Amino acid sequence: MSLPHHCNYVAGKPSEGRGRETLINPSTEEAIATTCAQSPLLEAVEHARNVAGPALRRLTFAQRAEKLKALIEVIVKHREALLDLSVRCGGNTRGDAKFDIDGGTATLQYFAALGASLGSGSYLAEHEPLQLARNPRWVGQHVWVPQDGVALHINAFNFPAWNLLEKAAVSLLSGVPVITKPASPGSSVAALMFDEFYRAGLLSDGSFQLVHGSVADELNVLGVNDSIAFTGSSRTASLLRRHEAICERGVRLNVEADSLNAVVLGPDVEESGETMRAFLRDVVREITQKAGQKCTAFRRILVPAALRSMVESELAAALDALNVGDPSAEGVKVGPLASGAQKKSVTEGLTALLAESKQCTKNRTFEKGYFVAPTLLSASASSTLVHEREVFGPVATVLGYSGNAEEAAVLIKRGRGSLQTSVYSDDSEWVDALFHQASAWQGRFYWGSEKVSEHAVQPGAVLASLNHGGPGRAGGGSELGGIEALKHSMQRVAVQGSRPLLQKLLGHAVLAPAVANSSSSGGNKESSSSEGARS
Ligand code: NAP
Repeated sequence: MSLPHHCNYVAGKPSEGRGRETLINPSTEEAIATTCAQSPLLEAVEHARNVAGPALRRLTFAQRAEKLKALIEVIVKHREALLDLSVRCGGNTRGDAKFDIDGGTATLQYFAALGASLGSGSYLAEHEPLQLARNPRWVGQHVWVPQDGVALHINAFNFPAWNLLEKAAVSLLSGVPVITKPASPGSSVAALMFDEFYRAGLLSDGSFQLVHGSVADELNVLGVNDSIAFTGSSRTASLLRRHEAICERGVRLNVEADSLNAVVLGPDVEESGETMRAFLRDVVREITQKAGQKCTAFRRILVPAALRSMVESELAAALDALNVGDPSAEGVKVGPLASGAQKKSVTEGLTALLAESKQCTKNRTFEKGYFVAPTLLSASASSTLVHEREVFGPVATVLGYSGNAEEAAVLIKRGRGSLQTSVYSDDSEWVDALFHQASAWQGRFYWGSEKVSEHAVQPGAVLASLNHGGPGRAGGGSELGGIEALKHSMQRVAVQGSRPLLQKLLGHAVLAPAVANSSSSGGNKESSSSEGARS
């Protein structure tokens, strides 16, 4: 029996594409589908540049927001099928599948609401006109206009829905046509979404195109006013940074790469208190959710020496108790890694880390499938590799430290820039000292404490209203963050001229609110993914 084939959607139509790559169910190692190996990027770029872009730029923010709402309706209608596919073929537990698909939907909802609130504008004005000379008629104004090109989105395998939708929401709302390229593993979810968008007639203008397969050899079709939003490994990011399209042709590049996120337990936290419970609960979830294949997952767990043996034994017992297996079976809490390549990379990384650490959790064996048991390691804070090597699976290392905030800050910084750091403490002076010394080393600083332990969104969740992206190793990029996100697909132009003429010229500029608050859904992967609380 022939396998289903995932189509590209270019210029509003499905196409088979060149070459074939077989996709594998990571739980059973059975072939499930084929996708094309080489993407039709040139054709997609030409359509976006010449046809879809000019039409999209003519729309107001509210009209673009209507496009996002139409996408949401399709996803909501086919949610069960998408969740089922994500579990059956993608190695996700149902909770992991919801985290991805509902998180993407919630982010679309956030930007649809933002677009509606921007109304009939199609540019963003940063401020009222500024008087620039003695004569009050000579003024200037900063205005953000959509890039006159295409947004190529290169996504990682771990969030095939959310990664795709959050990037698309922002570019489409800005007025820039999107070409989205999923990573091959897990691309079945992206493929089904696009099949349904197509059946619903939402792809006909070609402003939202899907290409499967490698784009590596075709990036020179991009130029000034085009952008690449990349999510993936530092290794690929560094290839892109050196690419001629970026270095010489003026293509804008945003990188969301890997990260050795730290979580720090404060010295004030008591063994049996609420803050300790929140810390242990969150660490177990961050190690195991999506089998640890999450850019925001904790990799380094900093624990004061006095609490270390208690923390290690509590975490190891909780991780060893979790049922690991095919997520379509009842009671499974942790699924497989996404691919054979991913399993090889995690196994090699784990072996390397074990040269400098001891394992606290039990070994398990699996007959087939790309499974790795949740693994807790324990190492000296002075070891090297734990601060350098990202093992993108259910693996994290406990590192002892004195409890001193300065020492914790030094250890955080050894990760060379992270997406997020989390601290758990009820001592505001201690957190203040840590924040003062380490805050510039990550894109997000999360403070868990007794007062919020019941209500807080989990630390690994990325919010549409807040920045995602971190310095250094994490890529130096920035995504999301409310209205600021739109500017990543726009050009800032300082417009100067006579006040009445500027008023006429910029009649379609809407004054941007400084920070747009969350909509009711919040664009929050966590709130939308918990059982019974989908957006
Ligand atoms: P990857 O190997 O770098 O691949 C990412 C994407 O880049 C895929 O779509 C891949 O396509 C494409 N790609 C590979 N080589 C390319 C090239 N030479 N030119 C252009 N595109 C190329 O990363 P991954 O293994 O999929 O993802 C895991 C990594 O992503 C982890 O390190 C994780 O930390 C990071 N990540 C970061 C974030 C974040 O927000 N910061 C989020 C999720 C994941 P093919 O599949 O066709 O090769």
